Amino acid sequence: MMECLFGPVLSRRLGLSLGVDLLKYKTCNLDCVYCELGRTSSLTKSRDRFVSPEKVLREIESRSEEDFDHLTFAGSGEPTLSSDLGEIMRRSREMVDVPVAVITNSTLLTSPMVRSEVAEADVVLPSLDAVTQPTFESINRPAKDLKIEEIIEGLRAFRSEFSGEIWLEVMLVKDVNESEAEHIADAVLSIEPDRVQLNTVVRAPAEPVLPLNESEMMNILGVFKDAEIIPDWDWSVPEMQEAKLLEILADRPCTLDEIAELAGLDKNTAVKYAIILEHEGKIRRRLLKGKYRFQTSLS
Ligand code: SF4
Repeated sequence: MMECLFGPVLSRRLGLSLGVDLLKYKTCNLDCVYCELGRTSSLTKSRDRFVSPEKVLREIESRSEEDFDHLTFAGSGEPTLSSDLGEIMRRSREMVDVPVAVITNSTLLTSPMVRSEVAEADVVLPSLDAVTQPTFESINRPAKDLKIEEIIEGLRAFRSEFSGEIWLEVMLVKDVNESEAEHIADAVLSIEPDRVQLNTVVRAPAEPVLPLNESEMMNILGVFKDAEIIPDWDWSVPEMQEAKLLEILADRPCTLDEIAELAGLDKNTAVKYAIILEHEGKIRRRLLKGKYRFQTSLS
């Protein structure tokens, strides 16, 4: 039977994130050129039930004692296409002590009902990649009749109704939407998110599209007010830091917070180094007494 939970995955935006996937593989109302899941096989605007809420809630309950930073609704498509999203988020908040997050492409925030469901989350991570209909169609390849103007209006309405955190992501793709960056920045300002996170294509995308390089991203950063850049072009662990981390983790298994404290790092850097060292097979993760701890692969 299909598992609805995945991870926890180490995420630079969300730390240790236990994912909840309420969808059938790849159900979405967009078919973004940069999607790392490949082409959308089920392009639909209709909300539906893809999995029994009781089953999902049982899975969440069974892992609620584990130590992760966010319970995140995301996965193999657009979470708001699940007609059970609101109820499942509401009930799961009673089961876990960590913030509940949802990653959405923003399109269904035009609906007051969807907005009230998404508002069950503590942190909402919507995206906005265009402000004009031709660019929206080029980068996001939407289902019929989705209008970017209405989606931006939906994001503004959501902001006025929701008191939790909104971290808005803008994905920039070379020669597709970069020329619209200033207008996107104006729209973002009017939405008033708590954080603005600029991204570019770093993982294998659906189409042969190109990322912006570091200096192009830095130029665009200047156009946005108080934005941050997600990709890290220096994706490595300095030699001395690596030696220190491996020494610490050979001695005893540590949580991410302990790694940060013992190595004198901020939590974001500790997460970044853990992602790299885990990916390189130098450290591994174990669940010990309800907490994820990292140790060297040989210990
Ligand atoms: S909205 Fe997300 S899941 Fe849907 S096509 Fe775009 S990137 Fe992929």
